[in-house]
Amino acid sequence: MVLMQIAEPGASETSPDGPRKVGVGIDLGTTNSLIAHFDGDRLSVLPDEAGAMSLPSVAYYGQAEVIVGDAAVVLAAEHSADTIASAKRFMGKSRDEVSDEGYLEFADEGMAFATTRGPVTPVEVSADILRALASRANLAGFDQLDGVVITVPAYFDDAQRQATRQAAELAGLPVLRLLNEPTAAAVAYGLDSAEEGVVAVYDLGGGTFDISILRLERGVFEVLATGGDSGLGGDDFDRLLADHLTAAAALDNLTIGQRRGVIACARGVKELLSEQISCTVSLDHIVAGTGEVVVDRSTLNGLCGELVNRSLDACRQCIEDAGIEQVDRIILVGGSTRMPLIKEAAAKLFGREPLTHIDPDQVVAMGAARQADLLVGNRGKDDLLLLDVIPLSLGVETYGGLVERLVHRNTTIPVVRAQEFTTARDGQTGLLVHVVQGERERVEDCRSLARFELSGIPPMVAGAARILVTFQVDADGLLEVSAKEESTGETAHVVVKPSFGLADTTIAEMLRAGYENAGTDMQARQLTEARVDAEQLAAGIYAALKVDGDLLDESERGDLLSAVQGLEATADGDDVEAIRSAVEHTGKVSELFAARRMDQSIQQALGGISLEALEQEVGE
Ligand code: ADP
Ligand code: MG
Repeated sequence: MVLMQIAEPGASETSPDGPRKVGVGIDLGTTNSLIAHFDGDRLSVLPDEAGAMSLPSVAYYGQAEVIVGDAAVVLAAEHSADTIASAKRFMGKSRDEVSDEGYLEFADEGMAFATTRGPVTPVEVSADILRALASRANLAGFDQLDGVVITVPAYFDDAQRQATRQAAELAGLPVLRLLNEPTAAAVAYGLDSAEEGVVAVYDLGGGTFDISILRLERGVFEVLATGGDSGLGGDDFDRLLADHLTAAAALDNLTIGQRRGVIACARGVKELLSEQISCTVSLDHIVAGTGEVVVDRSTLNGLCGELVNRSLDACRQCIEDAGIEQVDRIILVGGSTRMPLIKEAAAKLFGREPLTHIDPDQVVAMGAARQADLLVGNRGKDDLLLLDVIPLSLGVETYGGLVERLVHRNTTIPVVRAQEFTTARDGQTGLLVHVVQGERERVEDCRSLARFELSGIPPMVAGAARILVTFQVDADGLLEVSAKEESTGETAHVVVKPSFGLADTTIAEMLRAGYENAGTDMQARQLTEARVDAEQLAAGIYAALKVDGDLLDESERGDLLSAVQGLEATADGDDVEAIRSAVEHTGKVSELFAARRMDQSIQQALGGISLEALEQEVGE
C-alpha cells in the first residue's frame, strides 16, 4: 500500500478535555517484537516487568501454559522441538511453499509445527507473541487498547498480510491497519521533518535482510522497489563467530546443546563489539577447562565481510529496480545495523551518512505507534493524518475490451465514484460488469478482479438503458462495486479486495508497464474504438436492411452491402486511419437509405402525406 499524508485542520475527533484514546504500534519481528505508544508528546517503547524493551519472537509449547520471550529462548536449548522461533517466515505460506519440512507437521490447510501440545500454526505463534506484547500495555496502565497498527515487511503478499491480521484477531487486538515496515521507519523520521525525496531503508535483523526504496513526494509514500535476502541476518554473523570461537578455543565434538551455547555466547560478543573494539570471552561455562579467547572488532569484520557484501549487492539491484539515480536519505533499521561495519558499508554505498538517531531496534514500532495514535482519533488541530491511497487504478471493461477507469491511482480512500454506462446491443437484457485494476488501456493487460452480472434490464435499443456503476472503496481498501439499471431499479453488486495477492513490487511493475506502454496502449485504444464504431455501424445497417430493405432497389442495396462488407474487411486489419475512412465512406453510402427510412417514418406519422408533398406545402 502507498500512504498519503494530508492536513486535516480542525479534524480532531476527541475534544481536548475528553479522554485520550489509546493506540499502540507493534513491530512483529522475525527475531524480536516490540510495542510502542505515543502519548501526544513522547514516543516510548513499552517494557516488560523486568524493563526489557524487545521481546524475542520465540514461544515454547511444551506445557499447558505457553511461554513467550526470553524464558522460551532459555528453554530452546533443551526443548528445541517445542520451541518455535521465526514463525514469521511461515506466515501465510501453504505447505508447498515451505521447504524445510524437518520439524513441520502439515495440517490440511496451511502448515503447522508439531509440538507436545499438538500442531501449532504460525498464526497461533504470532497471536501468542501479540498477547505477550499487549500485556505490556496493561502493565503500562492501559486497560483497554482502542486501536493497534502492526507492521509487516513491504514484500508481504496478501496471504501473509491476511495471516498477520488473523493473528491479531486471535489475540483479540483491534487492528486499525497493517503498515509496511520501511514506511513506518520513514514515518518515524520523515513526518517530523516533512522530508521529501528518495529514501532507502536498509533493514538488517536477526534472520532477514530487507532493502526498500521509497519515494516521498507531495505527501505520498510510495514503495519504488524492494529487495533483500531472506536468508541473511545477524544469526549468520553469530554462527561465523561461533565457528571462530570453537576453533580458537580448540573445542571439538560439541553436542547440539553446547553448540547452541557457543552461538549464544558469540551473539553476546558480537553485540559487545559494536561498542568496544576488543573483548575477552570465556567458554568455561559451556565446556569446562576452556581458556579465554580475545576477539577484536577487526576479526569480526573479517568474518562478516562477505555477508555484508551480499547485502550491498541486493542494494545495488534494488536501486536499479527502482530506476533511480540517487538516494537522498538512508535509514538504518534492525539490531544488526548497530555494527560499525554495516554503518560504514551502507554510508559508502549510498554516498550518504545514514540516519541513526532513532534506535534502529525501535524505529519501526515507533512509526507504527505514531500512526496508531492518529488513527484512533487523537489528532490535534494541525496534525497530519496518514491515509492509504489506491496503488493502481480501478475500472470496468467496456465494449471492445477497453478499460474505463473510475477510480484513479493515488486517490485517497475511502472514496466513492459513480459513472453511467449503457447497453451496446439492441434488446440487451443483461450486462456483465468486469472489474479490473491497472493502468493499461486494454483489459487483457490489466488485472481481473471480479465479474458479476446485472440482469433484468428491460429490452431497449442499444444506448437507451442507463446503468449506474458505483465503485466504493472503504478505509481498509475493500472495494464494493454495484450496478443499477435506473428505470427498473434492478441492482447487482460484488465485493472485492483490490490489493489481493499484489505485492508492492508487482504494483511497481504494473505501473512501469503502464508508463512504458502508454504510447502503444493509446494506439491500441484508437484501433479498438475505430473497430467498435465499424462494428456498430455494420450491425445497425444490417438490422435496418432486415426491416426496411425494400426501400432500396437492387443496385442501391448492392452498393450499400458492398460498402458494409468492405468496412468489415478493413476493420479486420489494424490500420486505424483506413477503418476510420471506411466508416466515413459507409456512412455516406448509407445516407440515402437513412433518408428513405426517415421519410417513411415521417410519412407514417403524418398518416400518408409524402415528405416531398409536405415540403412543397411548406414552401408555398
Ligand atoms: P528482527 O527484525 O529480525 O526481529 P532485530 O531487528 O531485532 O531483528 O535484530 C536482531 C539482530 O540484531 C540479532 O541478530 C542481534 O544479535 C542483532 N543485534 C542487536 N544488537 C546488536 C548490537 N549492538 N550489535 C550487533 N548486532 C546487534
Ligand atoms: Mg525487524
